[in-house]
Amino acid sequence: MDTIKTRFAPSPTGYLHVGGARTALYSWLYARHLGGRFVLRIEDTDRERSTQPAIDAILESMQWLGLGWDEGPFYQTRRMDRYREVIDGLLEKGLAYKCFCSKERLERMREGQMREGVKPRYDGHCRNEDPATHQGEPYVVRFRNPDRGVVAFDDLIKGHIEISNTELDDFVIQRSDGTPTYNFCVVVDDLDMGITHVIRGDDHVANTPRQINLYRALGATPPVFGHLAMILGDDGAKLSKRHGAVSVMQYREDGYLPEALLNYLVRLGWSHGDQEIFSVEEMVALFDPAQISRGASSFNTSKLKWLNQHYMKSLPAGQVGKELAWHLGRLGVDPATGPEPARVVKAYAERTHTLKEMAERCRCYYEPLNGYDEAAVRKWIKPGAVEILKSALELLGAGPAWEAAELDAALAGLAGRLGVGMGKIGQPLRIALTGAAASPGIGDTLALLGREESLRRIGSAISAFAGQGGSHGQD
Ligand code: GLU
Repeated sequence: MDTIKTRFAPSPTGYLHVGGARTALYSWLYARHLGGRFVLRIEDTDRERSTQPAIDAILESMQWLGLGWDEGPFYQTRRMDRYREVIDGLLEKGLAYKCFCSKERLERMREGQMREGVKPRYDGHCRNEDPATHQGEPYVVRFRNPDRGVVAFDDLIKGHIEISNTELDDFVIQRSDGTPTYNFCVVVDDLDMGITHVIRGDDHVANTPRQINLYRALGATPPVFGHLAMILGDDGAKLSKRHGAVSVMQYREDGYLPEALLNYLVRLGWSHGDQEIFSVEEMVALFDPAQISRGASSFNTSKLKWLNQHYMKSLPAGQVGKELAWHLGRLGVDPATGPEPARVVKAYAERTHTLKEMAERCRCYYEPLNGYDEAAVRKWIKPGAVEILKSALELLGAGPAWEAAELDAALAGLAGRLGVGMGKIGQPLRIALTGAAASPGIGDTLALLGREESLRRIGSAISAFAGQGGSHGQD
């Protein structure tokens, strides 16, 4: 058997959205699962709608997701000579023909068919036309679709599909400006690139019979097809911007890890028993298109958040830390000015669901405090709080080892000596150190900030709150 080869063939008319990413993932997994190859092809023949930023966004998204390709990216715009060659061959053999019908004629034909209540389709008017009698006239090239018989195929996902050739018409393969059309290029490419399995969205299922006829006309065996049902938003409508993020890079910006998004997407229409968590290695080992669901799948953001937190906690902290550093950079914060991001990940993964949230919460370790949270100050900076901060400063300045457990033990000792609960010490300290009352354990917070900066901030808070009766102040 030939090597299994799948491909992802996006049209670069916009960013890579989650539906496209899921198609890419399933094609990639199928190839990886069977030890085959994965091809990336950019379908950029629609020059008006294709843009370089969209191409860049697709490549960046694929790389960020870790969906590496073995061949490509191929660009259809660089294959024009090849398409022309195949069209000429089809014309020569009479398997395609030039059509000189004017827009007006086609319009009249369509209107007539509509009036009669029949499905609009080209009537084959130019099938036997002699091009010599149309010198200099504009034309399109049409594929001569078989008149009789049925086109049948066994879809990997949808099962057996068949349609009568009388339902299909002679579709255009080359426009009047000389450019080839999607249905044509896709066949030539999949053939030339040796694609054995085409996994794509079911918005293309109606094109497949036409493409199969074209394969046969070219003397080739069609690949195996699998058409994926679409993704709906959590309200049951087709997924769109209205439902929040839809582009892969927007998910990155919103603080999701690629592992979480991949895990989420693999389950969006595929299952393996009731397992929810899949590492990439497991997906590759277990992926079986027979388990892809036929029905549409609904997006569920809270599940994605849950998976994201799972991966923030369970992936190596150094790996998550790299992604956190990217988010800090986006906030204009230099990750080199504070603790190793991996240490922040360990302390914060339990407390946050996205890296964006984590970056916002931990920026206080990397840059000067931007004031104190007013509500936290009102709640926790009560009479006596400044005295407690002074005692803590004295104690911490006296030199316990600067490690979370030691620091916690020293502060617990202080609480005992002062006869107050830990909250009375911990909360004012958190406000002093981070500007707000929510942070990891106080020992962890001190350890992340470092000795010198912690002592300095406690000193600043003492000055800010002294004599202000607990009102809001600046660091
Ligand atoms: N370029 C097509 C699209 O982005 C996909 C074609 C295919 O997978 O056959 O919808």
